[in-house]
Amino acid sequence: MKVLIADDDPVNRRILETFLGKWGYEVVSAADGNEAWSILQSEDAPRLVILDWMMPGMDGAQICRAIRQRSDPFYTYIMMITAKFQKQDVLEGLAAGADDYLTKPLDSNELRARLRTGERILNLQEDLLRTRDRLQYQASHDSLTGVWNHGAILEILHAELARCKRERLSVGVLMLDIDHFKTINDRYGHMAGDAVLREAVRRLRTNLRPYDSIGRYGGEEFLVVLPNSRQDDARKEAERLRRAIADSPLEVGAERIPVTISIGVSVCSHPDSISIEALLKCTDAALYLAKQGGRNRTEASWENPLAACEAPRSSQNSSEPTSTS
Ligand code: GH3
Ligand code: MG
Ligand code: MG
Repeated sequence: MKVLIADDDPVNRRILETFLGKWGYEVVSAADGNEAWSILQSEDAPRLVILDWMMPGMDGAQICRAIRQRSDPFYTYIMMITAKFQKQDVLEGLAAGADDYLTKPLDSNELRARLRTGERILNLQEDLLRTRDRLQYQASHDSLTGVWNHGAILEILHAELARCKRERLSVGVLMLDIDHFKTINDRYGHMAGDAVLREAVRRLRTNLRPYDSIGRYGGEEFLVVLPNSRQDDARKEAERLRRAIADSPLEVGAERIPVTISIGVSVCSHPDSISIEALLKCTDAALYLAKQGGRNRTEASWENPLAACEAPRSSQNSSEPTSTS
C-alpha cells in the first residue's frame, strides 16, 4: 500500500521512510505542506497519509481540512504526527479530520500497529464502496438482460421530460413488445426464451444512439427513451429497431429463431401539457394498435386518434417544433 509521509524535518522523514519501507509500504515523501497537497491531488494519490502538524506552506491541520472538504469517491486515512502533545492539540487534529494521532518521539511498534489499523479501515471502506456499487447496479438493472429495470427507465424518462421542458426539446418514447413470445417459449422452452430476450436486447442496443436509454418495462416489453427526438426521428429509430430484430433470425444455441417486435411510438414536446402516465398510456395504446394491425410493425400515437396523447394544440403554439401526441 502506498503511504504519503509529509514532514519538513529530514531526519524524521528518513526514519519514517526506513521503517515503512522495511514493513513493505510504498513510500511517497513530501518536505512541506504544499508539496504534500500537490501529491494528494495527483491521480492515484496515496490514501494512507502521515502528516506532520507543523510544516512550511500548508500545515497538517489545513491539509486535513482540505482533504475532508473534497468529495472523493474513496476515503483517505490520515495520521497526524506531531511534537504537540497537549489534549487540546489532539482534539484540534481530530476536529480537522485526522483519523489518528501520534506524538513524537515515535514508538516504531505503535506506529506499525496503527498503520495496520489504517489499512484495515481503508480495506473495509473499499469493500463497502464495492458492495454499494454492486447493490446500486442490482437495484437499477434487469438481471436477465442487463438493461435498466422498470423503475430506473421511468426515472430516466422523468429526467428527460424535465430536461426537455428546460431546453424546449422533444422526447421520443418507444414501447416495444416481442410478438407471440409465448409461442417461442412453448416451442423452444423457457431457457431458450430467456436467451431470445438477451439476444434481442443485444441487437436493440447496438442499434440505439449512444444517448438513448432502454429498459425492461415488463416480461417481454421494453421502453426506449429517445432524448431530443422529433416525430420523424422517433419513427425512423423505431423502424430501425424493428428491422434489426425482424431482418434475420436470432441465433440461440444451435437454433435460429425468427422473432419480430411491435412498437408504439409517441413524442412529447410539451411536457407541461401531459403527465408521464398519460404519455405512457398513449404509447401503450399505439403499441396495442401495432399488435392489432398484424404485429411486426410500428404505430405512432400522433397518427391514431385512438392513441392520441392530447387534443391538438391551438394555433398560438404552432411555432413550436411539434405538437405533443
Ligand atoms: P403478443 O404478440 O400479443 O405480445 O403475444 P405474446 O405471446 O408475446 O404475449 P403474452 O403477454 O401473451 O405472453 C408473454 C409471455 O412472455 C408470457 C410469459 O411467460 C413470457 N415471459 C415473460 N417474462 C419472461 C422471461 O423472463 N423469460 C421467458 N422465457 N419468458 C418470459
Ligand atoms: Mg408479446
Ligand atoms: Mg407483453
